[in-house]
Amino acid sequence: MSKTVSFITRNFGKYNPSSLASYEFIGGFTALRKALDMDGDAIAQLLADNGVQGRGGAAYDMGRKWSQARAVQAPHKCVVCNADEGEPGTFKDRELLSKDPFQLLEGMIIAGWAVGADNGYIYMREEYSHLRPQLLSAIEQCEKAGYLGENILGHEGFHYHIHLYSGAGAYVCGEGSALCESLEGHSGRPRMKPPFIKQCGAFHLPTCVNNVESLSLVPPLLLDKDGFYKSQGTPDCPGTKLISVCGNVKNPGVFEVPFGITLREIIYDLAGGIEDGHQLQLVQLGGASGRLASPAQLDTQYTYKGMKGADLTAIGSGAILVVDERTSVIGFLRMTQQFFSHESCGQCTPCREGNRHIARFLDKIAAGTHTEEDIKLMEKYANIMSTASMCGLGETAQSALLSAMKRFPEVFAVKKEVAVR
Ligand code: SF4
Repeated sequence: MSKTVSFITRNFGKYNPSSLASYEFIGGFTALRKALDMDGDAIAQLLADNGVQGRGGAAYDMGRKWSQARAVQAPHKCVVCNADEGEPGTFKDRELLSKDPFQLLEGMIIAGWAVGADNGYIYMREEYSHLRPQLLSAIEQCEKAGYLGENILGHEGFHYHIHLYSGAGAYVCGEGSALCESLEGHSGRPRMKPPFIKQCGAFHLPTCVNNVESLSLVPPLLLDKDGFYKSQGTPDCPGTKLISVCGNVKNPGVFEVPFGITLREIIYDLAGGIEDGHQLQLVQLGGASGRLASPAQLDTQYTYKGMKGADLTAIGSGAILVVDERTSVIGFLRMTQQFFSHESCGQCTPCREGNRHIARFLDKIAAGTHTEEDIKLMEKYANIMSTASMCGLGETAQSALLSAMKRFPEVFAVKKEVAVR
């Protein structure tokens, strides 16, 4: 199996990302023309046939998402591109936004056609504001060329506009309903569900939210006559995935890999192994909300099933954070905990209070003053958070801790003299 592939990234370095003419020169917008000759159901079916799962973390079946969005009857609908990319250690969407903005816009226009939307919104994290001028210019060029606007490419009644919004740096705005709140100009707090955003999302319209990578995948998939995408990966999990590898590796970066590659191949063959002769301590998969893998799990296959079978986060955002022995497990967990305590929106009790309490327990463990009772209570609070929080932030904030308790039990061991006190 080849270790890297070029499918979603096929245009990188091949055209000038500031120029529509340059994108058209390499075949840009051929996929849109093809899509406009198909109906939305056929496009959704194509996604389903290729087994495409959304790349934003939840891995929802993308074909099903588009057919559900299409089935909603409403005079106006919208498509939202989630370019918030807030999971620590994740930076693969930034590559797509900077190196291939027109492919993303083409994917968004196809999404608008397929689900019957008349507006598309790119919600981009504030930290990527240096990419705004290029994206705004790309949107303007598409409007002038008739790829956006009224009766697109002569298709009577297909009116579609794309708007660019910037977030204000809140991690929770990666959650669909918080993102919709933020788009509307409110503070980014998750909504109670139902109604789900597919029925009532941004501006109270039926909304289909997709991640940058998911939308960027659509044009090459529509043009994939020979079934290259499906030939990659494993029978269970076909295709390719963009991953971002960072931390204590020699060669951090973004790679497009076929599903089925192992964690060992990613860390040692693609990312060059651990820097400066240090020893691998742990790997966090899928961002701060991901579980921790121990070195014994390096031969796990990078597929949704493989990762789940190994009790790891099922791919998530595609982040792979490698940590060597210079960082202690507890030190790493404390940093993760500080992150979630800071990012919790405070709207529901399990997450707001749970994060604070667990931070205190971790401080005690770091100081070596914890008791068996502390460990039991900490685990209990973590499990309550996972089941009783209102949104994905609280549900997954303790994934790293709970997995560390299974994989590195020795770091939670109680000192005898403390235990008898
Ligand atoms: Fe806010 Fe946390 Fe509750 Fe989500 S789980 S709504 S982030 S307090």
